[in-house]
Amino acid sequence: MKLRDLGEFKLIDRIRRQVVDGAEVHRGIGDDAAVLSLPDGHHLLTSTDLLIEDVHFCLAWTDCETLGHKAVAVNLSDIAAMGGTPRFLYLGLACPGETEWDDINAFLNGVLNEAARHNVTLVGGDTCRSPGPWMISVTVEGSALAHQAIGRDGAQPGDLIMVSGTLGDSALALHLLRNGIEPEPELLARHHQPTAQVELGRLLGEHRLARSMIDISDGLASDLEHILQASQVDGQIEEGKLPLSECFRKHADTQPDLLGLALDGGEDYELLFTVAPEKAAEVAALCIKLNLPITAIGMIQVGSGSLSLQDKSGAVRPVLVKGYDHFCRS
Ligand code: ADP
Ligand code: MG
Repeated sequence: MKLRDLGEFKLIDRIRRQVVDGAEVHRGIGDDAAVLSLPDGHHLLTSTDLLIEDVHFCLAWTDCETLGHKAVAVNLSDIAAMGGTPRFLYLGLACPGETEWDDINAFLNGVLNEAARHNVTLVGGDTCRSPGPWMISVTVEGSALAHQAIGRDGAQPGDLIMVSGTLGDSALALHLLRNGIEPEPELLARHHQPTAQVELGRLLGEHRLARSMIDISDGLASDLEHILQASQVDGQIEEGKLPLSECFRKHADTQPDLLGLALDGGEDYELLFTVAPEKAAEVAALCIKLNLPITAIGMIQVGSGSLSLQDKSGAVRPVLVKGYDHFCRS
């Protein structure tokens, strides 16, 4: 059935019937506003992201369920980057009347499964017809103990710069797709089904291990620059320490130009954070506990927001940041 035949209210009703409310949800979908509670002594964290067809995704390259997963994961990643716990989700959805319910249902499955995996409840949203592209707006609310959310502005000289997982895989998958080459399944998964590092973010927050943190959506260099500028410090990273997957290395071995994707490629959704040296051992223990690679890639220095890179020969050069900007492509 097409949305044109189903209608807005039946669609909302179908969404509503698939949602299981969590304990903190007093009123979820179906009223003028959601009524929710947070644990005592917590602050509310809120973040929102837009996903527009042919800007953020192509329906030719992804299936609807995967798209639903990604729409949620990129939002959860923002709460993780504050050291918080994600709790509630809102879904704004605009699709053409020609859209099949089956596609929306698959998309919803992706949304609801990814939300459920992190104990997050869909508590509201809005639904409209779109004259053309799909437009998806996901808002997530989470919580962190009062005054303990980790901002971008807390980095201090001497801090180690650390990153979870591996870098550049998502951008490499996109690069291959754009060149008509089928990426390996592990690269494709990094692009279409990113994993938000929710557990790591929450634990770094709870144990006060990171002094500053951001998630990598625009690219390592660009997102690290946000930390450096917000904290008014400099940062130096070592090229040889950037964590790369085996698959990424294999491609870069034959095409060294691709190494730039580890620095500038977006959508890794790993966490980038700075840690006082005396906390490094605790972070290493966390890395074992979560079975997740965490790599120290450099150091924060006295300064005013500049990033430099030490290459494998030992030479140090300033990094020209060219992360993704929606309005100006560098
Ligand atoms: P309003 O006229 O107040 O905007 P709606 O009829 O749009 O109300 O929405 C009715 C209920 O359904 C609200 O609780 C709203 O949050 C929820 N809702 C609407 N669209 C969606 C959606 N795409 N996903 C989840 N909840 C939705
Ligand atoms: Mg509405």
